[in-house]
Amino acid sequence: MVQEIWEDFLKIAKEEAGSRVVDTWFKAVTLYQWDAINKIVYLLAPNAFVKDWISTNYTELIQVHLSRLLNVDSLKVVFFDGGKKSKSAKTTSSDTEEHITTLVPAKLDRPKKQLVKKNPYRKKCHVNINYHFDNFVAGPSNSLAKAAAQAITEKPGILYNPLFIYGGSGLGKTHLLHAVGNSIKNKNKNMSVLYQTADRFVNEFINAIRFDKIHKFQMKYQNIDVLLIDDIQFISNKEQTQEAFFHIFNVLYDSHKQIVFSSDTFPSNISGLAERLRSRLSCGLVTDIHTPSLETKVAILKKKAKLNHQELPDEIAYFIASSVDSNIRELEGALIRVTAFASLTGQPLSIDLARKVLCRSYTSKKKKIDFERVAKYICKYYNFDLSELRSKKRKKELSFARQVAMFLMKKFTNKSLRDIGAFLGGRDHSTVVYAIEKIEKRAAKNNDFTMQLKKMEKDIAKRA
Ligand code: ADP
Ligand code: MG
Repeated sequence: MVQEIWEDFLKIAKEEAGSRVVDTWFKAVTLYQWDAINKIVYLLAPNAFVKDWISTNYTELIQVHLSRLLNVDSLKVVFFDGGKKSKSAKTTSSDTEEHITTLVPAKLDRPKKQLVKKNPYRKKCHVNINYHFDNFVAGPSNSLAKAAAQAITEKPGILYNPLFIYGGSGLGKTHLLHAVGNSIKNKNKNMSVLYQTADRFVNEFINAIRFDKIHKFQMKYQNIDVLLIDDIQFISNKEQTQEAFFHIFNVLYDSHKQIVFSSDTFPSNISGLAERLRSRLSCGLVTDIHTPSLETKVAILKKKAKLNHQELPDEIAYFIASSVDSNIRELEGALIRVTAFASLTGQPLSIDLARKVLCRSYTSKKKKIDFERVAKYICKYYNFDLSELRSKKRKKELSFARQVAMFLMKKFTNKSLRDIGAFLGGRDHSTVVYAIEKIEKRAAKNNDFTMQLKKMEKDIAKRA
């Protein structure tokens, strides 16, 4: 029974924390015992590393859902790892031991309806408690979106309504929506906040039609104070759902309730959307998140590592940040893989280790292109000799060509910034960081230059 409860929890955790987190961390853990008298859940992790990671990041998530699944108002979670298992369960005081022997309830009934209602989470606000403004790192790519999201939490429904945040996958839209929900709930305990993905909204609507519950469906949405709709693009081509949503939107908007949308694209680019809904989506503030610069990626990695009480040397942060193109979800995954590998094999974190772990995932994407190939191409493109490119000379055009070379070397190889600097005239890694930043900034401002870079990348990849 306890196992079943844990299985149910894993399904919920998959939705809230993502399947990668569940597969990497939670699946290694078992619900060892449930002390029904003292309301303590004992979770057994395979080692101290997994235990620390989960307890630092997910204790609250576990408490919220397990208390609901175990039908109690609150509970305590005690973690122990493989090595300490026997100690924790058997060699504690006789008092505790007694509890432990009577811990596992003979039968864990499914939560009864009226009891479950008492639990506030039953309001199903679906807001993920792990996403806050505090753990969202701002940089030039996302600071406007973050500032707007924070601003609306001061006066929900008044300032920017609706707020529409768009940007590519894995760049932090969902994180910001949840952060809005958490912040508003913290400031106004009585406000009802609902986070919903557009595809779940569509399914809910279809079910409401099937089971003749349209009125209930509408009432649910029209009676909330803050509505956070993620990935609104999934509503495209669903005419009837759009119609229902349009009315909900109008009711909420007219009564000054805050609405926040996220999407992978600008409202006018969402295909299959009724014109009147499209104009509603963009009638407040529309703001975007774009791909983070190298510096922002490094700052995010450092923040994530700090939150997990890990030391992440700058050089390794730069290496990981430059190995992953732009998606922060992938960036997190890379950090987890590197730190988990180091911890599980007992090796210290190093560039070599990171390269070994990450090259498996990224070399397949990065064809076998080496420094020489990039350098030769750049020399031909800008008309310099290889010896000049690798020299200490700092003529303006030559320095620029060298910076482009650094940028492309980072893009095409898995070498560290230090290696790149060493190849191009013994320069240190901060020079390479500066060069990459400079090229990224120039590309962001100048379309012609972006096109040039793209052509270079294509040419280099073709020759590989
Ligand atoms: P999206 O919804 O845009 O696809 P998410 O919000 O799901 O992206 O973000 C993917 C992961 O990256 C999440 O774990 C999120 O916490 C993290 N993330 C994204 N942006 C940031 C940021 N600026 N600071 C910290 N973490 C971030
Ligand atoms: Mg998302």
